[in-house]
Amino acid sequence: MTISANLLNDRKTYVTHLECGLEGDRYEADAVQTLSRAKRPLLVRYDLQALADELSREELAARPSGLWRYREFLPVRETCNIVSLGECETPLIRLSKLETGSGQLLTKDEGRLPTGSFKARGLCLAVSMAKELGISKVAMPTNGNAGAALAAYASRAGMQTFVFCPEDTPEVNVREIAAQGAKVWRVNGLINDCGRIVGEGKSTCDWFDFSTLKEPYRIEGKKTMGLELADQMGWQVPDVIFYPTGGGTGLIGMWKAFNELKQIGWLTGKLPRMVAVQSTGCAPMVKAYEAGERHAPLWEKAHTIASGIRVPVAVGDFLILDAVRQSNGFATAVEDSAISAALTEVADREGFLMCPEGAATYAAWKQELATGRVSPDETCVLFNCASGLKYPLSAAQATLDCTQPIDYSSLLN
Ligand SMILES: *Cc1c(COP(=O)(O)O)cnc(C)c1O
Repeated sequence: MTISANLLNDRKTYVTHLECGLEGDRYEADAVQTLSRAKRPLLVRYDLQALADELSREELAARPSGLWRYREFLPVRETCNIVSLGECETPLIRLSKLETGSGQLLTKDEGRLPTGSFKARGLCLAVSMAKELGISKVAMPTNGNAGAALAAYASRAGMQTFVFCPEDTPEVNVREIAAQGAKVWRVNGLINDCGRIVGEGKSTCDWFDFSTLKEPYRIEGKKTMGLELADQMGWQVPDVIFYPTGGGTGLIGMWKAFNELKQIGWLTGKLPRMVAVQSTGCAPMVKAYEAGERHAPLWEKAHTIASGIRVPVAVGDFLILDAVRQSNGFATAVEDSAISAALTEVADREGFLMCPEGAATYAAWKQELATGRVSPDETCVLFNCASGLKYPLSAAQATLDCTQPIDYSSLLN
């Protein structure tokens, strides 16, 4: 796809510097950066005042929708460095049959993005910035969707790409990574074991480490979920956001977006309560949240059918937990059986096929209506972060013999 004409003339960005998310110390923006000296994620900072002086919501509304509508909130300096596969605006779909009060239940369907998941937002930005900074060889540990998005964008940018995933990663993910020009290996461990391989291989293979939050720009891409959601709702926000949380880039990015919008006065009033949803088989954030901790130690023997949130340890743990607490949200875990039931219920009643991670947010919403932590009168947005078609589905067994007479009335039962 081509970036629309009105964005082709080079715009400056408003990036001033990067800053350690934990310590707040400053780093130069136009240089290759990884983690901070404290080994924590770097956050991109902007001259938001200048941005607000030069950009209006009316100007924004006149542009085509999609991720690049928010160009000024993003770090890419030269338009020629943008690597795009057509990052469309994802729809907000109301699930009215499932509502139980006056609040709306909406799902934001990120499965419409290139490579079928919201990982496209992050990797679109991260690869564009890698191109801008002259990086030509990249490596990543992944549970599937991030690797697929990296492979797509990095191949498009002409970068060599190396991807490591747990051996039980959904088959379609491993194949799409390979098809999209990356070298991919199945590893007999979890994502943190794959991450160790990427880290250890750096000295020999000289690749750039694209692990979640170990480079600063994926968050900026994920931030567009928050910008887009507020824009779609008429510069309003829902009461509660349920977000399937693995490494947490999406939750951290959205919270950053809402705060930037608040700073420039485009959002006023209460920000959404951010709810981090995990599986009971891998719930490090929930455990830390309940214990009142700011960091979450590694979760042993992590397992869940929602592979995208099977992340036993997260380098941005404190950013997730800070966002949850500052927003008056919470972290909660659901059983895998509730995830499966949720997937079936939403598909069957609303015709909307969620991915297991998305289904986890619906299961969590129901669970928290029952506990009273969420009210049926609150408007809630569930993030469906990938297309349900990327995952193995339940078998459909029925057959018909077309060489024999068919008892049509029996089909109605
Ligand atoms: C990666 C992924 C998640 C978790 O996203 P984070 O922002 O890294 O926490 C959730 N759902 C799906 C489908 C994913 O691919």
